[in-house]
Amino acid sequence: MPLYKANAIVLRTWDLGENDRIISIYTMEFGKIRGVAKGVKRLSTRFGSSTLPFTCIKVMFYGNERNELKTISQTEIVKSFQGIRENLGRILYGSFILELTEHLINGTHQDERIFRLILKYLTWLEHETKGIILYSFCFKLLCMLGFRPSLSNCVICHQAAGEADYNRIWFSREDGGVICPACSRERHGAISVAYEVIELTKRLISERVEGLQAYPVSSQLMEEMKGFTLYFLSQYLAFPMKSIGLIEELMNEGN
Ligand SMILES: [Zn+2]
Repeated sequence: MPLYKANAIVLRTWDLGENDRIISIYTMEFGKIRGVAKGVKRLSTRFGSSTLPFTCIKVMFYGNERNELKTISQTEIVKSFQGIRENLGRILYGSFILELTEHLINGTHQDERIFRLILKYLTWLEHETKGIILYSFCFKLLCMLGFRPSLSNCVICHQAAGEADYNRIWFSREDGGVICPACSRERHGAISVAYEVIELTKRLISERVEGLQAYPVSSQLMEEMKGFTLYFLSQYLAFPMKSIGLIEELMNEGN
């Protein structure tokens, strides 16, 4: 059976019996995979700590292509994001990043950019807990997965989208973009979104996270951004994410 080597980030774990653990990892080389790490709970060694979330590892695993569950044979910690582990707020923000990746990726979806994206944002989180970082990660990941929202002309009739109301525009998650007032009559699930939210979303997609640090975002805009993001995300998430409720509380505190 072939043995594979990869660079990976641990996304999620599940206990398996007394001794073993199932881990979900996003690897640079093969995309998202799940594997059983045998004996990790019995041996209080590096193998155990290397198979926990917030760990970047080098991993060796084997298993048939057809087998959804691989066997993790060896790991080596590359980075353990100590700056995140030491702070509850950062743990919650980091959990959102890991959980979002775990939930949004169906199958393996190998893309080296996604691996680098997770790594970069977890590294940022070691020093920062600004809500804008999460939105930036969220929309960049959505784009890499092929779910880029369409934010210019009406996504249905391709005419100028026009105003829904003063400074607001219609958006339909079902169609994945802004829509004009005429088309909105056919879309009961559409919501009206502030232009500012659409403009901020464009920036989140096109700009590096470094450039967003100094971008002034009012608490009202953050509140609207939250509603819009959760509305858009719900189109792609099969079930609710645990970390969202906690993040909402943090964001309400004006982070
Ligand atoms: Zn239209």
